[in-house]
Amino acid sequence: MFDLTGKRALVTGGSAGIGLGMARGLARAGADVVLWGRDPGRLEAAAAGLAEFGGRVLSRSVDVSDERAVAAGVTATVEALGGLDVVVVNAGIGVPLAKFAESTTEDYRKVMGTNLDGAYFTLRETTKTLVAQGSGGSVIVTSSLGAHEGAGRNQAYGASKAGVLALANGCAVELARYGIRVNSVLPGWVATDMTGPLQQSEIFNSHVISRVPLGRWATPEDFEGIAVYLASDASAFQTGSSTMIDGGYSIF
Ligand code: NAD
Repeated sequence: MFDLTGKRALVTGGSAGIGLGMARGLARAGADVVLWGRDPGRLEAAAAGLAEFGGRVLSRSVDVSDERAVAAGVTATVEALGGLDVVVVNAGIGVPLAKFAESTTEDYRKVMGTNLDGAYFTLRETTKTLVAQGSGGSVIVTSSLGAHEGAGRNQAYGASKAGVLALANGCAVELARYGIRVNSVLPGWVATDMTGPLQQSEIFNSHVISRVPLGRWATPEDFEGIAVYLASDASAFQTGSSTMIDGGYSIF
């Protein structure tokens, strides 16, 4: 039921963090995987780290905020894999915290460009392929707990993640008739490069440890299982769902 042998997967933001954790789960379950990211060196290292699972693992440098790069990247990825079954729309960035009145349009556009435009371009181009193939598919979108309540004082980031969740749910409704399922994952606090400065802050670190009922930051490995579940037949009747992976933070 959880076997992904023969499935062909694309993971954006797959060179590090949550995306790499999800890619590891997919590769471990037997899928062939193409990782997208920005840094060719990190992509190569990430792909090499997944080689032990025996499937094909390829990588490609694609900036998801660039519409044409995404379209060309999808064409090349589908050609390399011989088709597409699973898409993980995960690439994302944070923005430096600033008082809202002093925040800049440049930072706002930057976070929207990668997180929301990037998700839109990736969803549109990949689901075009899935519909044309006619064999269904599973799309997993990384949103955030911040999609519901905002991301603290990080207004633009929270707005981008609420937008991503709405895009995913809209796609879930429209694409169900083609057997394409679209589900969202909402991480809480995850120890990745993105949260590096927060992990270094003693005050913030103890806030996370004391507020998360499971008592720690999530790690990229915590996202392996949900990726396998949502990509596989185990979740065959699930679409338009939001799964929180937050150690209980949101209910405390
Ligand atoms: P990370 O910095 O470890 O990894 C981000 C990945 O996205 C990298 O592979 C990077 O190359 C890629 N990326 C960034 N901008 C890109 C672009 N323009 N084009 C292509 N690739 C790009 O961060 P992470 O914490 O693993 O974040 C992954 C996703 O999870 C993001 O969407 C983020 O918003 C979301 N998220 C993270 C947390 C957290 O606490 N870390 C919480 C909630 C949601």
